[in-house]
Amino acid sequence: GGGGFGGAGGMRPEDILRDFFGGGSGGGNPFEGFGGRPSGPQRGGDVQVGLALSFMEAVHGCAPEVTVNTDVECGTCDGTGSADKAAPVTCGTCGGSGQVTRQQGFFTMAIPCAACGGTGQSIANPCRPCGGAGVRKERRTVQVTVPAGVDTGVNLRLPNQGDKGRRGGPPGHMYVTIQVRPDPFFRRDGADVHIEVPLRLSQAVLGSSVVIPTLSGEAELKVPPGTQPADTLVMRGKGIRRLNSAAHGHQYVHFKVTVPKTLTEAQRAAMTAFAEDEEEVTDKGGFISDTMERIKKALKKLGKKAA
Ligand SMILES: [Zn+2]
Ligand SMILES: [Zn+2]
Repeated sequence: GGGGFGGAGGMRPEDILRDFFGGGSGGGNPFEGFGGRPSGPQRGGDVQVGLALSFMEAVHGCAPEVTVNTDVECGTCDGTGSADKAAPVTCGTCGGSGQVTRQQGFFTMAIPCAACGGTGQSIANPCRPCGGAGVRKERRTVQVTVPAGVDTGVNLRLPNQGDKGRRGGPPGHMYVTIQVRPDPFFRRDGADVHIEVPLRLSQAVLGSSVVIPTLSGEAELKVPPGTQPADTLVMRGKGIRRLNSAAHGHQYVHFKVTVPKTLTEAQRAAMTAFAEDEEEVTDKGGFISDTMERIKKALKKLGKKAA
């Protein structure tokens, strides 16, 4: 764009359109072809389609088919737009310029020719199925190669799979917006996955070996003795593959120690024996008993009686 109304001739309407649509840089601008190149090729429009994937499809990649409505070449006229497949002729209304002028006060405005749609050409005997456009909408099936590691919001670009161009213009592109359904077990955080693994009290105390799910099957995991209720183990490189990279995220295993609510007689006896032994070990100068002593002393100093 440019110029401005103060300059000679003022701003041309196509400049305004170009500015409004972000410049005629081949972005599927429907007004491309006006002005300097009235009968020039017009690039096909871009098409956008959504694709819902399961968690595992997104993690490992897949090749699903999507159906999309795009402009395709009209088979009746072979894309010429003419019923007898004749070449277009120069538009009689605008003389081929694609523009007609209109007097408006002091200004002469150039506006796109309505007779030829700004192309500067007209078709004497338009093809009926496509109305002379040379293209028509068709439902197509396109196979999409989804790389491993995609996540919700990723936009895949399929070059030249959009609308067919007009008058020999290049086709537009197809964009596939990914939506990933969450998994009931694996919780995803970027390229990392988190899982929660329940441990019995004895497994946490004595240590154990558990078989857990991973993204590539199952794995045996050593649980160290003395594992705490909220401890986490990191399985490095066992997460999701990062897009456009060979690197993988990690799998975080969050242990959840379960405390039994009911005990057999033998378990109760064993636990009681454990508790008696535990008292002897832990009652000597622990952090809690130290704290209680400290509070009692402080209360005494303040002249208050401890409960
Ligand atoms: Zn046709
Ligand atoms: Zn015309």
